[in-house]
Amino acid sequence: MSSLITEITAPDGYKVTLNTGLFINNEFVPGAHTIDTINPATGKVIAAVQAAEKEQVDLAVDAAYKAFYGGWKTSKPLERARLMRKLADLVKRDSEDLVHLESLDNGKPLSASRMMDTDSVIEQLQYYAGFCDKLHGKVIETEGKLSYTIHEPVGVCGGIIPWNVPMIMLAWKIAPAVCTGNTIVVKTSELTPLSALKIAALIKEAGFPPGVVNIITGYGPTAGEALSRHMKVSKIAFTGSLATGRAIMKAAAETNLKKITLELGGKSPSIIFDDVESVDEVVFWTHTGVFFNSGQSCCAGTRLYVQEGIYDEFIEKFKALTLSKKVGDPFAAETFQGPQISEGQFNRVMNYIDIGRKEGATCYLGGNRVGDEGYFIEPTIFTALTEYCICFFYLDVTENMTIMKEEIFGPVVIISKFKDIDDVIAKGNDTTYGLAAGVFTSNITRAVKVSNALEAGTIWVNTYYSNSPAEPFGGYKQSGIGRECGEYALSNYTQVKAVKINVGKSI
Ligand code: NAD
Repeated sequence: MSSLITEITAPDGYKVTLNTGLFINNEFVPGAHTIDTINPATGKVIAAVQAAEKEQVDLAVDAAYKAFYGGWKTSKPLERARLMRKLADLVKRDSEDLVHLESLDNGKPLSASRMMDTDSVIEQLQYYAGFCDKLHGKVIETEGKLSYTIHEPVGVCGGIIPWNVPMIMLAWKIAPAVCTGNTIVVKTSELTPLSALKIAALIKEAGFPPGVVNIITGYGPTAGEALSRHMKVSKIAFTGSLATGRAIMKAAAETNLKKITLELGGKSPSIIFDDVESVDEVVFWTHTGVFFNSGQSCCAGTRLYVQEGIYDEFIEKFKALTLSKKVGDPFAAETFQGPQISEGQFNRVMNYIDIGRKEGATCYLGGNRVGDEGYFIEPTIFTALTEYCICFFYLDVTENMTIMKEEIFGPVVIISKFKDIDDVIAKGNDTTYGLAAGVFTSNITRAVKVSNALEAGTIWVNTYYSNSPAEPFGGYKQSGIGRECGEYALSNYTQVKAVKINVGKSI
């Protein structure tokens, strides 16, 4: 429908033509209403996109249901792999369109989008394309009987994704689902629908049958809720906040007990020992670990514990690197940090900075708005006492501060000093989350001891943010349920059937 097509011009003059409809059954169709998507660098509207309510969610699920039983469930594995590889090739071909849309919609620097976003999508598709024909069951020996297992797809899957890395999250939901013979309806975040709409057009061009992948935009409490309550949806893969994760779990429990995987928030610690080979390298990794993507990352290393021998050197170098990084226009070549995603998130982060100051943490650097347009915040470093003397009693106040406990999801780091290894492990684990952690040391025994002791789904040693599609990703404790990526994710999208054949006496 021509009225749904719009041309979007990025600040560098690059133009992308986009269909703004809901992508259902390989067609772009009108929604129940429209949502304006905002450029967070300016606060101005980029485009109006079609949005789903329950009625359109039903249409998308019906299309996926028909596609599942109409042939995709029993499709040839190598044909699924061919389509996935074709889609990966098209993402590569149109990567400039995609990275421009992502930076415009999400505010991440164009250089960062170019560096990783489309490559991650391509790698995810190629990795799972390789699994299409490797989904084997087992033969189990039993007396007089032949028993074997088959791994079958679960049916229609729902993907509900956030705004911080929109196209990567889209690929994380689509690739393992279609590889295993499922069909899927993905609801994008209402804040960042644009790159997904472009990928929708590529899905059709790649030749996926209608209904195998459906992509809709809509608000969480309406479209997201309708998807997670739908009786024909067999599984929901969700990435987002803890509160929404709880709502989705409740919806699944109250309807058809659909399978769920939840990738939620984090408050990840990085522990830096004074035996590190190079303080400069650790400063690089830990700085990237917290400030990349404007701090809007579930696995951001937001609590840094630095051993006392290198604390002063570390904090000076960390400050110097932070000050050398440019905050501003995502389309400027030298920009490291763009805006926060929305006015709501901007206010939320500024409120945490205010709370940090009021609760006694020292705002060592930053803490203010940048400019008067868009949602930019200075990279902010808090330092906090680990011991506080009142009338000869030493109280540990730092660990109880709100900014030490709650996920801020912005460019805010808290740096503390530590002495003792067991004490710092206890502090690292003193959180309701458990998504990731960093360990920096040149002592291999210490690296293994600390990695084993930390309660988190991913431990990075002498690095940070190093993910590959082959590695499982997910959380301990309230950071989530299940794992995405790698071979581990396949079990979320398959169910096991045991077949037992009597090959002995008939009675
Ligand atoms: P959010 O939970 O508000 O929204 C995520 C998605 O859920 C959006 O598409 C939204 O529309 C939808 N949604 C909202 N309410 C819903 C409901 N009642 N039912 C169904 N769907 C609903 O989270 P956000 O603000 O978009 O993202 C920030 C959060 O996501 C942070 O807490 C962050 O840690 C987390 N996150 C986690 C990971 C991970 O891999 N663990 C990755 C990225 C973000």
